[in-house]
Amino acid sequence: MLTKSQVKAILDKMEVFQDGHFAVDGERHTAQAAYPMRVLQQPEYATSLAATLGGAFRSLRPHAVLAFPGTGSLLALELARALRARLVFAKRGPDGWRVSPGQALQADERVVLCDDVLTDETEFLELANLVAACGAQVTGGAVMIDRSTLTFPWTIESLVRPDAPLLDPAECELCKSGAPFTAARATVLSQ
Ligand SMILES: [Zn+2]
Repeated sequence: MLTKSQVKAILDKMEVFQDGHFAVDGERHTAQAAYPMRVLQQPEYATSLAATLGGAFRSLRPHAVLAFPGTGSLLALELARALRARLVFAKRGPDGWRVSPGQALQADERVVLCDDVLTDETEFLELANLVAACGAQVTGGAVMIDRSTLTFPWTIESLVRPDAPLLDPAECELCKSGAPFTAARATVLSQ
């Protein structure tokens, strides 16, 4: 388990955040970009960060960690390892999200939702609907970086909440001041 200051030291060292003027997902603007892959690409950090994140869920003994097959899956694998739970992937089908072929969520199983960054609240709600459709239960959500503003019906555990909010472009002070967009940092950090 890492302390808050140890987590911050790792994220700072791996330059996970960048100050400037950014459009996230091509929509909302922010003064702080996040690059979770810069730290998750290092397995030793992914392991220790996920073990820290899992501390809040260990006593709840979840059966499975449910994740999207994207960059958040690196965190989800390590979270599943820390919780001694299965890693289950959601797969987008023609009718929405479903459990990946060859995997299953059983009725009454306790499931932790996991992603690297929480920005679009609807995605976790889609995962929660998938859990409910299987008859299983959402124990909570686990994310490395929480940028959400919605309140969920279960606990969201995160390692860090950035100070800079995500804003509609019409509300962006940086746009109003005429600040140009900042060039994004490269994902790979040279050793
Ligand atoms: Zn802006």
